[in-house]
Amino acid sequence: MKSILRHLVAASLLAAALPVQTGLAQQPAAKRDFEKEITAALASAKTAAQFDFLGTLVRTCLVPQSEGENTTDVPYPYVTDPSKVPSRDTWYTEPAKVFDNLYFVGGKVHSAWAMTTKEGIILFDTIYPYNSEELIIGGMKKVGLDPAHIKYLMISHAHGDHIGGAEMLQNRYGKSGMKVVMTDPDWTLVEKYPNRYKTMAPKRDITATDGMKITLGESTVAITHTPGHTPGTMSYIFQVFDKGRPVTVAYSGGTAFNFNNRTPDPGIKNFQIYIDSQRKFAANAAAAGATVLMSNHSEFDIADTKNKMLASRGNGPHPYEQGTDAVQRYFRVMQGCARAAQLKLEQRQAEGR
Ligand SMILES: [Zn+2]
Repeated sequence: MKSILRHLVAASLLAAALPVQTGLAQQPAAKRDFEKEITAALASAKTAAQFDFLGTLVRTCLVPQSEGENTTDVPYPYVTDPSKVPSRDTWYTEPAKVFDNLYFVGGKVHSAWAMTTKEGIILFDTIYPYNSEELIIGGMKKVGLDPAHIKYLMISHAHGDHIGGAEMLQNRYGKSGMKVVMTDPDWTLVEKYPNRYKTMAPKRDITATDGMKITLGESTVAITHTPGHTPGTMSYIFQVFDKGRPVTVAYSGGTAFNFNNRTPDPGIKNFQIYIDSQRKFAANAAAAGATVLMSNHSEFDIADTKNKMLASRGNGPHPYEQGTDAVQRYFRVMQGCARAAQLKLEQRQAEGR
């Protein structure tokens, strides 16, 4: 045992000394095969996706990424121009009871979720300003919930498709004690761009931090700060019940690569922030034994389709419950796609483009 230890110590000392020797000899670094590395990262994402996360694979690996973070203070078009509001048939869908204590009150593409507890309701995300009234307020009433019982409103990140209804809900239910929860970087975005967040600018309430727990009645939502999609994106772990059986959910708060990523600087760094967040949240999800992956976009968790499958479930498995391995595969898809995109920027940097 001791001699193995001596070998290890000797080997690590040698390893520590090596970079200095290489530097002195000024040997050219071995040429990296970027194409091979990119192909491997994409293959790892594809293998992890299987059939469960094809939407995530398409959006993060295949579809061209958006331009980068908006840094202007102009309102979203649909706020000032009613003709820019997408037609109802593109977003309306029925609300659904998904677990004993969790209801879907979102749209076809963007999700909102209401979790019931003995002490009131925790609402996750608020969709757009133009459809939160019908989908959230209307949806909650349709499934028998009273929106006046919302005690916490958790906004995963400050983009118009998730913060859209927050100001309206705060104006209506803030007086009766509803608190809005968001991280400091995203509260700061809202405060910095008053025109961009016109009609969707809740006033700062609770500032969430990594590791914070929000408890209401018998339920606790554990927050992981997962910067990348926005600087303040937060993700959650919480428990729901399926016919009385506890089920752990990992809720991913931001997925697409819409941060600045067109140039090696700051793209390489931004992808690293994103990848590190995914690793951190994947580890938290694994530690909690999460068997359900939920998202605030149904392209990533197929919520709308699964809600329809629930109706004919009978005594079959819950369509949202995919198991701990599948939840981990979701994070591998995101990491593989992010790494492939990051490698392309590293290649450009190495080639001086
Ligand atoms: Zn977003």
